[in-house]
Amino acid sequence: MSSDKIILSVATTGSWPSKAQHPALPITPEEIARAAVESWREGAAIVHVHVRDAEGKMSCDLARFRQVKELIRAQSCDILINFSTSGGAGRVGEEERFNSLAVGPDLGSLDAGSMNFNERVFLNPPDFLEELARRMLAADVKPELEIFDSGMIGNALALVEKGLIQTPLWWQFVLGVRGGAPATARSLLHLVDSLPPSSLWSVCAVGWRQLPMNMLAIAMGGHARTGLEDNLYYSRGKLAQSNAQLVARLTRIARESGREPATPAEARAMLGLTNTGC
Ligand code: ZN
Repeated sequence: MSSDKIILSVATTGSWPSKAQHPALPITPEEIARAAVESWREGAAIVHVHVRDAEGKMSCDLARFRQVKELIRAQSCDILINFSTSGGAGRVGEEERFNSLAVGPDLGSLDAGSMNFNERVFLNPPDFLEELARRMLAADVKPELEIFDSGMIGNALALVEKGLIQTPLWWQFVLGVRGGAPATARSLLHLVDSLPPSSLWSVCAVGWRQLPMNMLAIAMGGHARTGLEDNLYYSRGKLAQSNAQLVARLTRIARESGREPATPAEARAMLGLTNTGC
């Protein structure tokens, strides 16, 4: 489904990048919230959040998720909050991955299948996915269906058929991870063609392919995610100044292409969110 308005997401932190790789990577709840608000000012409607522990390592700590949400809302920022449930691609147990749902994010990521993820195995077995979808439904958290390869679409649709995921479906293609679908135009076309009607989809890609894949999404009527989780650089060899800088560039390109960034309120309506976001 094409739309004039484009939903821009920012993935500020991720599980893996470090301050050593990028000094401006937001790590603490304060830094993550600041990055979210700055990105919102530049046109982001959704912030995808991972939290880190005191040493900067991937964490599923409930208090930190809560702190990020409170700090964002304290600044009268209505950006939609999407908490990761990835658990760092298999670093923590299944139960811990449900933690963030208790804070009441607007959205939560649902990684719709298992895969080799670079050097790791990212396990998302059918019974785990079903339980995650069930808990999201009960908590009124909309799943962002993260799709790393085409077979995962069928896994997600099985949950839809069971009544565990409600339409409109919101898909996030994560392309270019070793072990998943490549970040190419051909790959994206195939994935989009595999979706049921009335789906909304967004694309992100790791490394330098982030921008060209975002631009393809703009041209194809999809939505786009940028941010330091996926790519630390602004251009070859030059680190991005901030998440907001990456969002600002995407907003400029979208506008030049005739697509105005959706506000969080507009994105909320497009995604059919029924929760309040408070
Ligand atoms: Zn993530």
